[in-house]
Amino acid sequence: MENVIIIGSGPAGYTAAIYLSRANLNPVMVMGALPGGLLTQTTEVENFPAFPDGIQGYDLMEKMRLQAEKFSTRFLFNLVEAVDFSRPGAHRLTLDNGETLTAKAVVIAVGAKPRNLGLPGEDELQAHGVSYCATCDGPFYRGKAVAVIGGGDSALEEALFLCHFASEVHVIHRRDSFRASKIMAQRALDNPKIQVHWDSVATAINGSRQTKVSSLSLRNVKTNAEQELPCSGVFIAVGHIPNTAIFEQQLEMTNGYINLVDSGRSLTSVPGVFAAGDCADAQYRQAITAAGMGCLAAIDAERYLGELG
Ligand code: NDP
Repeated sequence: MENVIIIGSGPAGYTAAIYLSRANLNPVMVMGALPGGLLTQTTEVENFPAFPDGIQGYDLMEKMRLQAEKFSTRFLFNLVEAVDFSRPGAHRLTLDNGETLTAKAVVIAVGAKPRNLGLPGEDELQAHGVSYCATCDGPFYRGKAVAVIGGGDSALEEALFLCHFASEVHVIHRRDSFRASKIMAQRALDNPKIQVHWDSVATAINGSRQTKVSSLSLRNVKTNAEQELPCSGVFIAVGHIPNTAIFEQQLEMTNGYINLVDSGRSLTSVPGVFAAGDCADAQYRQAITAAGMGCLAAIDAERYLGELG
């Protein structure tokens, strides 16, 4: 029986691991499909305190991993496929290799994944011109025209990053103002390579797996005018969905986000199960808030284990 298992390895998971291992609770971390989480796919992180010159997302997560490792966190490069939280003090986790782990406490820090749009061509052309990660795929579009769908911080961050490679970057947004922060919006509007298509939705991604993406069909939602925008790449950045499907029958959730039952703490609807980061936070979703929530979860778990005896 483990004291505590942490599911997920983003800022929330690593911070929980640092605190729990430093408290000699010998935590096990199940890393998940993307060790280090979504931040490993980001370029420069400019708003994480203590890095006045910014830091690459991958480097930030590697530093967190090393800090957790220093205090003897054990890492498992697996996925959790099922959980059974019905026995307090003996929660069971089934891994993708068939192994079953039991723990007195569990910290869930599984994050969220990019939302897709369900457009004609979107699935078929994934990795053939359709991407959810400019950091990963941007360099393939040197000198080419690309489109970014979305109007939040992620979309504009992707668009600005793509300006380093692409000849032109078209931002497709369904409204007439950005959701993104003012500073990001201004940077995008000031960039001569970026052209914003306001009040516009994509209706199809055109091309074939052989020829890759050739264009994006657009419709203006105010005028109903249709347009075919020639481009070689389509980057979709329309928000995220929490990775919480395996907890559906086990924990109380709202729109896929795990409910925290005691305001300002990390307790879920099941005693001994704690949640932190984007899987339990529809509001802030920042690396630093996820890290803070990981700290809360570790302290709450430590107190719970102390009371359990
Ligand atoms: P957001 O939810 O903030 O934005 C999603 C965007 O996608 C919105 O503009 C939304 O439009 C649009 N959208 C959603 N669904 C559809 C759809 N079906 N069709 C067309 N457009 C759609 O998600 P983000 O991933 O951008 O950001 C998540 C959080 O992470 C935010 O809090 C953000 O501030 C933060 N973040 C911070 C960064 C930074 O500080 N450097 C970088 C990246 C993210 P609409 O506006 O009309 O709802």
